Amino acid sequence: MENRKPLMAANWKMNLSLHEAGELLTEIKKAEIDFNKADVLVAPPFTTLPLARDLLAGTAIHVAGQNMHWEEAGAFTGEVSPLMLKEAGCSHVILGHSERRALFFETSTIINNKAAAAVETGLIPILCIGETLQQREEKKTFYIIKEQLQESLGSFSQKTVLPKDLILAYEPVWAIGTGKTASPQQAQEVHAFIRSWLRETFDNNTGKVTTILYGGSVKPDNIREIMAQPDIDGALIGGASLKADSFLSIVRFYEG
Ligand code: PEP
Repeated sequence: MENRKPLMAANWKMNLSLHEAGELLTEIKKAEIDFNKADVLVAPPFTTLPLARDLLAGTAIHVAGQNMHWEEAGAFTGEVSPLMLKEAGCSHVILGHSERRALFFETSTIINNKAAAAVETGLIPILCIGETLQQREEKKTFYIIKEQLQESLGSFSQKTVLPKDLILAYEPVWAIGTGKTASPQQAQEVHAFIRSWLRETFDNNTGKVTTILYGGSVKPDNIREIMAQPDIDGALIGGASLKADSFLSIVRFYEG
């Protein structure tokens, strides 16, 4: 995987009370992690962000929001702005997760607005893309991935510059929370396709340096095989990130 540093990102979704979150964060903080071998990030729900910021202060563990609005402030009831995420301790924000796309009707155009706002505010987007089972069965995977990339990154491709730390996450929708993982070969094939799209749309270097995570039922027993693929740079982990032992065993994939 060239010189790209692995990233293991925990997406807690709408889970864990403050008390439970405090316990999990404390265990992660105490764990021995070789940060030369992997970066670590947690994305708790909004209400837990200040606790994560305070508990993880002084550690190398990053904190991310799971979503945000693209405006700085205003009459947007129920929304959270990029500046609010920064204030709550976030360095990153997950955008365009398939649950946001499917359940909250977020389009790639909306996601592009969010990605542009995140970058302007100094937040690193983790931008998710992925096909549904029906799309895969209809052999439309590459078409859908290309379309999502073109639209979700539209404002960057117009300028032909992708922010150098922007992270992509390939998450086949049929593998999220289902226990079905894409085979390492299926995942690698799509990651290689994304990298070639980046090369063609931006330049060779963008294709080379961009971090691309895999997400979809990542577990301690499949992480090593996934990380052995040349174009996979880490994982976005849902269910298995809610328990310290499984998350830490994924984080320490490098122990072999
Ligand atoms: C996710 O929500 O991003 C995810 C990959 O979930 P899970 O690991 O539970 O499939």
